[in-house]
Amino acid sequence: MELNYPIKRRKSRSVKVGDVIIGGAFPVSIQSMTTTDTRDVDSTVKQINQLVEAGCQIVRLSVLNDAAADKLPEIRRQVTQPLVADIHFQHELALKAIAAGFDKIRINPGNIGADWKVREVAKAAKDAGVPIRIGVNSGSLPKDLLEQYGHDDPRAFVEAALREAAILEDVDFGDIVISVKSTNTQTAFWAYQMLAEQCDYPLHVGITEAGTLEKGTIKSSVGIGAILLTGVGDTIRVSLTADPVHEVRVAKQLLAACNLSAEGVDVIACPTCGRCQIDLIGLAESVEAKTRHIKTPLKVAVMGCVVNGPGEAAAADVGIAGGDGRGVLIKQGEIVKTLPEADLEQALLDEIEQMTGEKIER
Ligand code: SF4
Repeated sequence: MELNYPIKRRKSRSVKVGDVIIGGAFPVSIQSMTTTDTRDVDSTVKQINQLVEAGCQIVRLSVLNDAAADKLPEIRRQVTQPLVADIHFQHELALKAIAAGFDKIRINPGNIGADWKVREVAKAAKDAGVPIRIGVNSGSLPKDLLEQYGHDDPRAFVEAALREAAILEDVDFGDIVISVKSTNTQTAFWAYQMLAEQCDYPLHVGITEAGTLEKGTIKSSVGIGAILLTGVGDTIRVSLTADPVHEVRVAKQLLAACNLSAEGVDVIACPTCGRCQIDLIGLAESVEAKTRHIKTPLKVAVMGCVVNGPGEAAAADVGIAGGDGRGVLIKQGEIVKTLPEADLEQALLDEIEQMTGEKIER
């Protein structure tokens, strides 16, 4: 196997989604999806804002019918963040979303119907500079491919996606993003690998129906993480059966765990052991919660003891290590100050504020 360390990301073409660029050399972006009824503008805008505050860069909304499509201009007026309309079957809804100023459309050309409908959507998208994501998932595989390959075969996902892309290519549309989300991590892994070799479209990576908060986090981390570590993937969505704000938090942490995060505080904490004499779990959780909003990239270590702490925290920009009733503040692996245990968290937060220039609520 060829060494790909540090990760060299696959070269993909880039597409513009509002002010976020997916693909090329741009950082892997974070997407999520609202769970509100799109017809309820107030609740939808409120949830979009919560997602954005948590770090979501692109927000997708389901557009189920005309009544939902009719609310898109109002939602657009209230939100500046890039918005994606998720549409199935009805090409008129895609046209309405583009006219409303949405930044991207998720639609599978194969289920829109007549060719002229595909051409109309492609033309409107092209005129507006709006890309289209082709989203193949386990539930949308064409019958013939299921018969040929059976369920969960990565080849079926790739063929389905390239077939959909060919429909758009035929009408001279190239601003395409593709996803091939299986709920089986092995299927998804190989589908994305194969697709990455067979086209240069930017890839939206996800594991569909990953499950509830804990299980879904693990499954998404394994699936999305494995794919990202091969250098494949330009934008991610973690799908959880939970408040979508969790999807964004998990996505941020997942990118940080892959060393692909372009921003934010990455809290490294030791697992604690018999040497630890402070409430390290509480301290680590508190620091993580209080620094979640910070955009500046910073590695922060929260370690249990001074025996191994400074060494283990050497890769961090700043950190603390506990002791017996006291602890130390560490910068770039060097101890810079000794403090009583009660002052450790404040000292660390002060330091983070100073290094990032961003305020922390106490
Ligand atoms: S840093 Fe200290 S307390 Fe934490 S795991 Fe290592 S030895 Fe144990």
